[in-house]
Amino acid sequence: MGGDRRAINERFRASHREQVNLWKTQNHLRQRIIAIHVYSDGSMRCALCRTGVFEHLTIDHVDGGGTRHRQSDGRANGSIGSLLRSRGFPPGYRVLCQNCNFLAWITSITPSVNYMARAMTKHRLKLKTGALDAYADPLKCSVCDVTDVRVLTLDHLHGGGREELRQLSVKGGVSFYRELRRRAYPSGFQVLCFNHNSGKRVPIPTEEFLRETIDRWSARNSGEPSRTDDRRRTMARENENTNILNVMMVNEDTSTALRGKRVSFTGKLGMTRDEMVKFIAAHGGTFDEAPRRGTTFLVTNRDWNKGSTITPTKSRKLIAAEENGVKILSEKELIDFVSAYQAREAAENARKAATGT
Ligand SMILES: [Zn+2]
Ligand SMILES: [Zn+2]
Repeated sequence: MGGDRRAINERFRASHREQVNLWKTQNHLRQRIIAIHVYSDGSMRCALCRTGVFEHLTIDHVDGGGTRHRQSDGRANGSIGSLLRSRGFPPGYRVLCQNCNFLAWITSITPSVNYMARAMTKHRLKLKTGALDAYADPLKCSVCDVTDVRVLTLDHLHGGGREELRQLSVKGGVSFYRELRRRAYPSGFQVLCFNHNSGKRVPIPTEEFLRETIDRWSARNSGEPSRTDDRRRTMARENENTNILNVMMVNEDTSTALRGKRVSFTGKLGMTRDEMVKFIAAHGGTFDEAPRRGTTFLVTNRDWNKGSTITPTKSRKLIAAEENGVKILSEKELIDFVSAYQAREAAENARKAATGT
């Protein structure tokens, strides 16, 4: 028992909870700092408006990404930072502030297919403007000078906003503003831009922590990359068809996309073995050590990894898969399968939300 590493870890965690949480927070913050440093070419500024307020910055997926990229930002900068890092910082990302990120996103999507874009129609904007007008004169963020209604929002002042209003505002949009109007705009709200609203929840590094993180990272990366870094970078290049944000999204989320499915994998993938096992479970699937009768998918890297060590005629898992009628997928295909499922689910929820208001 004494040698059980897992039990020891667990005991350590339990008795050092605060310390462990602090490490976690600091590590997330470090990953976020490094990613922002890399993708802003060291400027630590928004690529569009050039603001340099750290807690307002976010990583934006430049090409495509559609409805997904905005969801990724607010909640997961730490995770996206470490994920991008583990893949050798692939191209296709830039640093934007929350305001610019939202505007860039909203102008790049088609209103007919997207719920949020529909929420930006003239009628709804008018209703929103009416509500914000009641809480700010002149109509602007109460901290800065941003006046674009699309990136302004109502913020619950401490103790303000009754519970049912709070819940309405979480669901967002028209019904919330309508309800405020019906109640003749009760007090307890202020107008904030997205930067100043979401900035309240982001951990802020001290100047010293920020400098030290960047200096240490730069020092480590000025020399030859380590073998591990090198391997991962190669893997990332070979696997560049995989949309990193999809990987992130599916890594962060849980779903039932793989419910009833048994999944096995072989060879080195972009995800580590642990990540893959967790991934399968998070989406409701069952992990099979090796493919056998009843296994749904065998995930391999053979279709994209030129350095693949798998020889189709020699790989026992591939042979077993073929013998048992197991479908062979690449990592990308598995991720696409899950994210397509999630997209269908999101579209369905948006449709329900839209018809509900
Ligand atoms: Zn900006
Ligand atoms: Zn502001």
